[in-house]
Amino acid sequence: MNLENIDKEYVLHSYGRNYTSFVKGEGAKLYSSDGKEFIDFGSGIGVCSVGHGNKELADAICEQASNLLHTSNLWLIEPQAKLAQKIVELSGYDMRLFFANSGAEANEGALKIARKYGQVNFGSKKYKVITLEHSFHGRTITTVKATGQESMHTPNFSPYPDGFMHVKSIDEIYKNIDEETVAVLIELVQGEGGVQPFAKEEIQELAKFLKAKGLLLIVDEVQTGVYRSGEFLASNYYEIEPDIVTLAKGLGGGLPIGAVMTSLKDIFEPGDHGSTFGGNFLSTRGALTVLDILKPEYDKGEIAKRIESFNGYLDKLASSLPKYFESSVGLGLMRGLRCVSSEVQSQIITKAFEHGLIVLKAGRNTVRFLPPLTISQEEIDEGFKRLEMALMEVNI
Ligand SMILES: *Cc1c(COP(=O)(O)O)cnc(C)c1O
Repeated sequence: MNLENIDKEYVLHSYGRNYTSFVKGEGAKLYSSDGKEFIDFGSGIGVCSVGHGNKELADAICEQASNLLHTSNLWLIEPQAKLAQKIVELSGYDMRLFFANSGAEANEGALKIARKYGQVNFGSKKYKVITLEHSFHGRTITTVKATGQESMHTPNFSPYPDGFMHVKSIDEIYKNIDEETVAVLIELVQGEGGVQPFAKEEIQELAKFLKAKGLLLIVDEVQTGVYRSGEFLASNYYEIEPDIVTLAKGLGGGLPIGAVMTSLKDIFEPGDHGSTFGGNFLSTRGALTVLDILKPEYDKGEIAKRIESFNGYLDKLASSLPKYFESSVGLGLMRGLRCVSSEVQSQIITKAFEHGLIVLKAGRNTVRFLPPLTISQEEIDEGFKRLEMALMEVNI
């Protein structure tokens, strides 16, 4: 059996897979088993923040792997403690962290924190969490229910946990808070929903309102976090102080790691939460190295330069091709081209791939760009050259 057939025979069919197999990566470049070169404007899905085949990350992982991979959370774990300290310092928030293995798990931790806060701080039980339409918060039964897309709440997996309410807009949040509401969970830039940033004033007003009421603001930064927005956290860009922030995708540069951080520093007691793998030597040592790579890039203005370059290209495409694009959307290196239709969106993604460029889908009609945060100018230029060639072949 060839590899494709082995996959089809033995792996559950939960993904609509393209059967291209990549065998090598270098920076923002990927090479497939048939020898073709691709520019990767997707980074997995916003994961490979320091690019593919990063030597510094690989060396740190190898060194760690040849010593200790795992001891369990029964013992002190040096890189875990140091990573928590570093994330808190970079965020500028007075918080503590819990490490998990994925975005959904980080959000599960956030929801447990919110529920405990609601249980112990009020006379009556508060447990409901408000989330927004088009949001995405994960694939566990609870986070799929938190996700504000009705299509994902199929009866196949019901019953879902109680305690979530979905509203259409930030304005609708105010009207729907009742005596059982404990928190609002939002992405500042909706990723899967279409790379849609909220207005700064709108978010600041919401944060202020919730703080005054003693209700929690949970910001899902699984996609926006770790410099993707141009700042360490999108919450920093929005100049708010959330009560809870979750991270995952870009944090480990490809290693599975998630984190929930909160200003409720004493919310958990031993036994309240846990994870076998979360925060182990390998993932936390890797994430520390990712931050050691990205922090100087940010400080030297290199990430800002890449953002400016992407902005230039995307704004120009959006304004010069109104027959394909409605607008250029997004924040930082989390960008999108909003297409006039889903047909245009899917043709662009397919044609781009044929020309050796990986771009992603988001929402119903957005082409999404999540390049490695370390992408070189040459790789950016080459990627957009390929995109322009692909666009010439779109026929709608
Ligand atoms: C990807 C994503 C998740 C889920 O992360 P997993 O690691 O796949 O569990 C949650 N929230 C947001 C905003 C995401 O982009």
